[in-house]
Amino acid sequence: MASMGDRKVAIGWDTRTWSRFHHIWLRDHCRCPKCFHPITKQRLVNTFEISPAIKPIHVQSKADGLQVTWPDVEPHVSLYPWSWLQTNSYDPLVKRHDSSKEPVLWGAKIEKAPPSVTYEEAMTVDDRGLYKWLKKIDRFGFCLVSGVPPTAEATEELAKRISFIRETQYGKFWDFTADLAKGDMAYTTLALGAHTDNTYFTDPCGLQIFHLLSHTEGTGGATLLVDGFYVASIMKELHPEVYETLSRVSVPSHAAGEASEFFRPSPASGFPVLSHDNVTGELTKVRWNNDDRSVMNALEPSAVDEWYNAIRTWNRLITSPDSEYWTQLTPGTVVVINNHRVLHGRSAFDGNRRMCGAYIGMDEYRSKLAVLGEKFAKTRASPSGLSIQERSVWDPAL
Ligand SMILES: [Zn+2]
Repeated sequence: MASMGDRKVAIGWDTRTWSRFHHIWLRDHCRCPKCFHPITKQRLVNTFEISPAIKPIHVQSKADGLQVTWPDVEPHVSLYPWSWLQTNSYDPLVKRHDSSKEPVLWGAKIEKAPPSVTYEEAMTVDDRGLYKWLKKIDRFGFCLVSGVPPTAEATEELAKRISFIRETQYGKFWDFTADLAKGDMAYTTLALGAHTDNTYFTDPCGLQIFHLLSHTEGTGGATLLVDGFYVASIMKELHPEVYETLSRVSVPSHAAGEASEFFRPSPASGFPVLSHDNVTGELTKVRWNNDDRSVMNALEPSAVDEWYNAIRTWNRLITSPDSEYWTQLTPGTVVVINNHRVLHGRSAFDGNRRMCGAYIGMDEYRSKLAVLGEKFAKTRASPSGLSIQERSVWDPAL
C-alpha cells in the first residue's frame, strides 16, 4: 500500500511496518533508460534540474513495484521494484545484514582446521573453486592453498587468478632471500612480530600471497597469523576504553630504509589502529606495525599514558597464546592473507630461505569476489525460465 504526502511517499509493507521515501529522492533514483544508463550503470538524470519541491502527479501500487508519475513537459513514469525499495529503505534505515558474509573470528585453535583449498580447485577454469577460495578469504581473513608447484611461475599464475598484481617499491611479483636487498626487516633472518603491511601507505595492500619455495641448511621461520578482528572483539569486551583509544588516535608511520624512497600516508598524521564503517560502525581495518611507527607528535599531553597503556594492552592480546596461530609452511603450500584484518609475522631462522609472493589491491579482490557472487550465488530466474546473468539496474549494490 502506498500513499502520497506533502514531501514523501509512504509504503506499508504490512500493517505495522512502513518506509518513507522523499519525492526528490525517488525522482533522483529513477532507473528508466532515460534516467540511468542500462549498460554503463551511470546516472543520466540531471539531479540539479529537479525542482526541490517536486511532487508526483500520482503514485500507484503495481504488482511489480511502485509506479510514480512525475509532472514534466510530457509526464515521466518511474517504476521502483518493491524488493529494491525495501532493501534501500532509509526511513527507517533497514539493517542490510547478510550473516553468510559475517567474519568468522578465530584464535589459536584454528590450527586444527585452517581454511584451505587445493591448487587444482583454485586453477579450474569454471571459477567455482576460485569462488570457494575467495569466500574463505572473505570469511576467515586468510586461506591456505595446498599442492601448488613450488615455483615462482606457478605462484604468480595462482595470484593472477584473483587479479592483476599490485606493484609496490618491493616490485611486482617478489622472489627473495634474506640478503637485505631492500632496506626492510622482511629481508633479514630476524623474527618479526605480528603486524600488518604498508601502514605507511594511504591504502595498504589488500591481500598478501606468500609461498616458501625452499629452505635449506637451517631451521626456524615458522609463520605466525593473528586475527586482528578476533583480538579487537575481545578488547572491545574487556577493555572498551582501550578499544576507543585505538579507534581514535591517529598513528603516523613511514618506510624510509631506501635512499630513493620515502613513504608516508596521506594525511601524514596517519590513521587509527582500528577503522570502522561510518554507517554500520563495523570494524573494517586493522593497521598495526609498531616498528614502522613515526614520531607521536600529536598526542594530547594528558593522553600519553592512555596511549601507551592502550598499545600495551593491544600488544599483550595479539601476542597471547590464545590469539597466535603458528604454522610451519613448506614448499607447495601458499598462504593468502587479508592484510586489512589478519596480522602476520614469523620466527627467526637460519639457513637459506627463498620466498616468493605478491600483493593484490583490496578493491580488485572485492570486485572479483562480487562478480563470482553474481555468477554463482545470485542467478535469478527470468519469466522465460532462463537464468539472467546480466547485471540489473536494480542490483541492490548500485
Ligand atoms: Zn526516468
